[in-house]
Amino acid sequence: MEKLARKQVQALTPYLSARRIGGSGDVWLNANESPFGNEYNLSLNNLNRYSDCQPAELINAYASYAGVKPEQVLTSRGSDEGIELLVRAFCEAGEDAILYCPPTYGMYAISAETFGVERKTVPLTDDWQLNLPEIERNLDNVKLVFVCSPNNPTGNLVNRNDIIKLLEMTKDRAIVVMDEAYIDFCLEASTVDLLAHYPHLAILRTLSKAFALAGLRCGFTLANSELIQVLLKVIAPYPVPIPVAEIAVQALSEAGLARTKFQVLDISANRAYLQAGLSAIEGITVFDGWGNYILIEFPDGDALFKAAWNEGIILRNSPIKNCVRISAGNREECEKTLAFIRNYYQ
Ligand SMILES: *Cc1c(COP(=O)(O)O)cnc(C)c1O
Repeated sequence: MEKLARKQVQALTPYLSARRIGGSGDVWLNANESPFGNEYNLSLNNLNRYSDCQPAELINAYASYAGVKPEQVLTSRGSDEGIELLVRAFCEAGEDAILYCPPTYGMYAISAETFGVERKTVPLTDDWQLNLPEIERNLDNVKLVFVCSPNNPTGNLVNRNDIIKLLEMTKDRAIVVMDEAYIDFCLEASTVDLLAHYPHLAILRTLSKAFALAGLRCGFTLANSELIQVLLKVIAPYPVPIPVAEIAVQALSEAGLARTKFQVLDISANRAYLQAGLSAIEGITVFDGWGNYILIEFPDGDALFKAAWNEGIILRNSPIKNCVRISAGNREECEKTLAFIRNYYQ
């Protein structure tokens, strides 16, 4: 069967998600999921009918949360589908390119590869910021520039001034896609206010992280309406199942938002606990994280990752040498993890 697939698909290595890697144990700090399982009501009445392509109640609720107009919001199956829609709508296969700055999230590359779109990479600088001169030298044929902030897996924010310089540099040439999957943990760092000045800015958001709904598959693209209209041309006719919209609207209600705010504070406190505890261990470097995870450099990252794995503490190894990413789970998970690492280095 493989031989019948498109050549690009034959050559493709699928994204190695935390789920696909697997593992077994009782501490799961590998996928930046929320430790909270919240309850929702489902009516399940209208399932004989198709859903709206862009359910108005959901769009209005997210627009209000994000501080934009409803016509500046598109909802999709997770922000991963947002990435794919952008590639499909703006990049000509075999002609155009996307540009991204590793180490960063893996799905930009996979979406481009799937559609036969060239991938250009300009690595982040040593302090994980944009290398603007190098980006400018590589902009030929580039239609989309992906910037992740807070960046996964490094955890840092990208300097706002550099994002503005990038937007100036790419005017009338390419779209800048800000991946803000973790922005709900540091909302003041959002670039959403820049939408008013830059029609070529698109922002990816999701309910998977701070809103504790990774399994729901609900994400958003924020952009000016002209850009949103282009994406609506290529989206599936019924991308949002009725129960998904129902739950997402509850998550974005006044009570839902208050709960998320509280949970974000709780998770951030656990992240600070991990950060402080790990920093006290000699030989380990803990990097500041702005999302619900931190990146840590160990003397031997692979060995630490495997030892934790064998103890049922599932962390995420990273492409950065000796670095392991740890999600901020509940306090008990963080305590177990910290105790394990402390013991390991004693
Ligand atoms: C988790 C994550 C996403 C994907 O979010 P979904 O909405 O679950 O598809 C996108 N970007 C980054 C950087 C992420 O870490």
